[in-house]
Amino acid sequence: MLRTAPLQAITFDLDDTLWDNHGVMVATETGHYAWLDRELGAWLSMRGQQGSPSFAERFPLEAFEQHRRALARSHPLRRGDFTWLRERALREMLAEFGLDPAAARLWAEAAMERFMELRHRVEPHPEVEPLLAGLSRHYRLASITNGNVAVQRLALGRHFPVAIAAGEMFAPKPDPRPFLAALGRLGVTPARAMHVGDSWREDVEPARRLGMQAVWISPQVDTLPLPPGVHHLDHVRELPALLRRLGQEAPELPDS
Ligand SMILES: [Mg+2]
Repeated sequence: MLRTAPLQAITFDLDDTLWDNHGVMVATETGHYAWLDRELGAWLSMRGQQGSPSFAERFPLEAFEQHRRALARSHPLRRGDFTWLRERALREMLAEFGLDPAAARLWAEAAMERFMELRHRVEPHPEVEPLLAGLSRHYRLASITNGNVAVQRLALGRHFPVAIAAGEMFAPKPDPRPFLAALGRLGVTPARAMHVGDSWREDVEPARRLGMQAVWISPQVDTLPLPPGVHHLDHVRELPALLRRLGQEAPELPDS
């Protein structure tokens, strides 16, 4: 494999790159909604107002999802700001359910707090902590996510001096701006940086267009003929071996 220019920075996608996101998302989605239904029902009962149907009976999860999609269409700038979309959708549905505006806002905020608590129960792959600790001795690291995990709330957040929430800056990947923002803050040019992520469209393509090296994490795919500068790995744990093949510095990790 060809030796690449010495790398100075590595940027990472989060969801489905550093951990498996599906189970966490399902538990978060159902968990915070059930919490809202239960707690709101108890609050209304106390006030002698709980009737039938309950909030979640009137607005099942599918209705919540449809409401968010409609909001994203009518607020295109916010389309990737999932936290805003969720809270706004909840607030509007709660108002439609009959809560006054102040109560609808408070309950939407409370449900989102519960959502965020559950959302951050991600379990990074066991190799990720030593991987990031080792890489941070050789490279400047950043995270770039379209999701709503605030990486600084996680223990591994300390390895990321720069953390970009692309949806909240109204420029979800594949928009190049979150990549440029990360590289600008790290003080590194694209040619000296590598991006690692699981999405071809949101991670690999925009990174390559900017001239970064791109690592595509995708366990389901056999190694295909890939464009220059794109590297395929089944799992992020294989990154040190790839870096060595590219003639780059890499930490020694067990099994790498
Ligand atoms: Mg991802």
